[in-house]
Amino acid sequence: MSPDFPESGFVRVRGAREHNLKDISVQLPRDALVVFTGVSGSGKSSLAFGTLYAEAQRRYLESVSPYARRLFNQVGAPDVDAIDGLPPAVALQQQRGTPTARSSVGSVTTLSNLLRMLYSRAGEYPEGQGIVYAEGFSPNTPEGACPECHGQGRVYTVTEDSMVPDPSLTIRERAVAAWPTAWGGQNQRDILVTLGIDVDVPWRELPQETRDWILFTDEQPVVPVYAGFTPEETRRAVKKKMEPSYMGTFSSARRHVLHTFAHSESAAMKKRVQAYMISEECPLCHGKRLRQEALNVTFAGLDITEFSRLPLARVAEVLRPYAEAAPGEEGAAQAIARQRMAGDLTRRLDVLLDLGLGYLQLERSTPTLSPGELQRLRLATQLYSNLFGVVYVLDEPSAGLHPADTEALLAALDGLKRGGNSLFVVEHDLDVIRRADWLVDVGPEAGEKGGQILYSGPPEGLKDVKASQTGKYLFTAAHSEPHAPREPSGWLDLSGVTRNNLQDLRVRFPLGVLTSVTGISGSGKSSLVSGALVDALAAHFGQPVAEEPDDQDDAPALSGTAQLGGDLAQLSRLVRVDQKPIGRTPRSNMATYTGLFDHVRKLFAATPLAKKRRYSAGRFSFNVKGGRCEHCQGEGWVMVELLFLPSVYAPCPVCQGKRYNEQTLEVEYRGKNIADVLDMTVDTAHEFFADEPAIFRALDTLREVGLGYLRLGQPATELSGGEAQRIKLATELGRSGRGGTVYILDEPTTGLHPADIERLQKQLARLVDAGHTVIAVEHKMQVVAASDWVIDIGPGAGEDGGQVVAQGTPAEVAEAQQSRTAPYLRAALG
Ligand code: ADP
Ligand code: ADP
Ligand code: ZN
Ligand code: ZN
Repeated sequence: MSPDFPESGFVRVRGAREHNLKDISVQLPRDALVVFTGVSGSGKSSLAFGTLYAEAQRRYLESVSPYARRLFNQVGAPDVDAIDGLPPAVALQQQRGTPTARSSVGSVTTLSNLLRMLYSRAGEYPEGQGIVYAEGFSPNTPEGACPECHGQGRVYTVTEDSMVPDPSLTIRERAVAAWPTAWGGQNQRDILVTLGIDVDVPWRELPQETRDWILFTDEQPVVPVYAGFTPEETRRAVKKKMEPSYMGTFSSARRHVLHTFAHSESAAMKKRVQAYMISEECPLCHGKRLRQEALNVTFAGLDITEFSRLPLARVAEVLRPYAEAAPGEEGAAQAIARQRMAGDLTRRLDVLLDLGLGYLQLERSTPTLSPGELQRLRLATQLYSNLFGVVYVLDEPSAGLHPADTEALLAALDGLKRGGNSLFVVEHDLDVIRRADWLVDVGPEAGEKGGQILYSGPPEGLKDVKASQTGKYLFTAAHSEPHAPREPSGWLDLSGVTRNNLQDLRVRFPLGVLTSVTGISGSGKSSLVSGALVDALAAHFGQPVAEEPDDQDDAPALSGTAQLGGDLAQLSRLVRVDQKPIGRTPRSNMATYTGLFDHVRKLFAATPLAKKRRYSAGRFSFNVKGGRCEHCQGEGWVMVELLFLPSVYAPCPVCQGKRYNEQTLEVEYRGKNIADVLDMTVDTAHEFFADEPAIFRALDTLREVGLGYLRLGQPATELSGGEAQRIKLATELGRSGRGGTVYILDEPTTGLHPADIERLQKQLARLVDAGHTVIAVEHKMQVVAASDWVIDIGPGAGEDGGQVVAQGTPAEVAEAQQSRTAPYLRAALG
């Protein structure tokens, strides 16, 4: 035992068996930086999150709620014999999937609250205006929200063009597209027939007055409806006062759209009607979302919305003089308050600046942030909340960080440690691993072949552990093999790029080679590659831009149309391999996404028992009625509502999480039922299906991208961004023919051990060798050094970035003067 760690200061784990852990026992020092290493799927997270954090959480919940205790018995406490000396824990995990709640940088960091207080108490008020309370500066309160747009900053309206996209259609042909589909729309049409309106002439030939009434009236006449009658028959029936099928209520298209948008419970319905609305800046607050009284109050000459739109680095600069001003003398209560609040804000802002986040604005909405940025924001919030005696469990905090930014991260972690806290960090980055006080290396491989502790102790000791893959990379200088960069087969020329911090930028991308786009966090890499380049290529190929913008606010600031030129004739297709989830519900998983489940279901349908019972392949789907468990509708989980606590998922009590009904599970293929297959890891399935070429090939590529440890049925919602990205890559690798495709990747190495990165590089090289073009945003110098071309964006972040600082072969960029990447690249090139 190292003399630096007193015997008493340890967390002791005995007999941990969560997931693939092999009944392991281990001791971890408290008040230290403990880093968990190992290849992807070896069991690091199962130990750090699944065991240590889960147990801390369980103890906490038990202490607050007996009901929660019962629930944990249902969900299952971590499978471990004992843990001693465990402090309370806070987890800072990478967000899996997209965050649903609308929040902003200001709200997650709580800086917005402080700023509102500052404006309320220390702002400049116009002559004669009373004080505005802090809530009055929030667009999310009735006191603060602009009465016109209810704090949205935008107002939604409908126009004839937006609701009737094709005026050459007749009403019967659904000219009024905004009306409900199916019965609801027919009903409106039948009502118009009763009202004597011609539903069989093109919309544009109806008198304007009639059109306006149909679209915009607030009247809701109730009229007899004769379902199935022709207009002529209806006319006669009305005249004779015949008994109608029913009485129908008319609702103008505007009324329908606005009402559904404001009141519908269904997100899908809202989304449908939103397509018929246009949004524009609120004419009252000009997009600032607040009441005039609040906007009248200024600080340093800016209203609070203007202030929230400054980059954090600027905010700190503006506040600093107030924070450092000599305390006001006689009775200047306001001045003292101002100094105190400005001081508090700048201290907190400094932490964010240290973490390299100075380019963000308070107003920036969290769904537009990368998972790494969000995790660092939450980390900063912890840093100034001054807790002590806590263990922070973190998941790859270096994700998305340029090596230059990693230094700042390490300093922040050091701050938490000095504050008397423990840090348990799952990490792949060698620079972070080298700084650990204590390493826990899990392995030797993934899944079944992992789950053992190869080493636990101070970093130097890992050197002697032969079985450790981490040791290999940690102690051998990370020089990549010198390689001759490939010659491009042509060039793409992207010009006039104006979006976020990029201004009228022109960039040339080589074709038929592997290009890495580098630069510090916030320099503009994603705006250029995942934004402008993807949009331009998608427009060129007429492919839909994959993501539908969820929300107007999240649209990129200042996006113009860039021009695309060069050797476009060489290209036929764009494939974007990003970190977005492969599905948003537990219903999608790797097996369904890659298409291999279709083959598996056919195999089951072809078994003698299935044939005898006439089960088709559809019987083996958990997404449709028939074979699935109806209690959980094939999800395997049911949601349990908890009072005062977030609701949790518990295994379905009817099928025990198997998703299928008993009859379906009676069908076996080589001794396994369909639920058993979904429970197999890729590695196991790879052996099991060795003589089924279609399935085998798909599994083979999944293993090649390092996903052999994943279970086929693991729900999409449980997969990390990096795993989702590799599943997409594997699916593409299975599909790709020769040449012509542009692959765009955003940090494909996130979540990968250096050993896994090597495998990924081989895959990317295979695509390039087949004539395709690969363009990746990348931070790992191992990958950058081995690419054919490098485009370095910078020099700084936000306003200080957005330029091409250097471009060329790795060797050329390594010598560039201005580039912050160059020194790291030089080191990697050796
Ligand atoms: P790492 O963090 O080292 O990448 P994990 O701890 O996530 O590894 O995974 C270790 C093993 O446990 C893998 O085989 C993985 O498939 C399995 N595993 C992970 N999460 C679950 C889960 N929720 N249920 C069952 N097995 C899981
Ligand atoms: P990188 O990929 O190099 O980390 P980004 O392209 O994400 O950099 O960001 C470049 C700049 O654009 C930053 O100042 C960032 O805050 C800003 N930015 C990025 N996305 C958005 C967005 N959706 N809305 C507003 N600003 C954005
Ligand atoms: Zn408004
Ligand atoms: Zn069920």
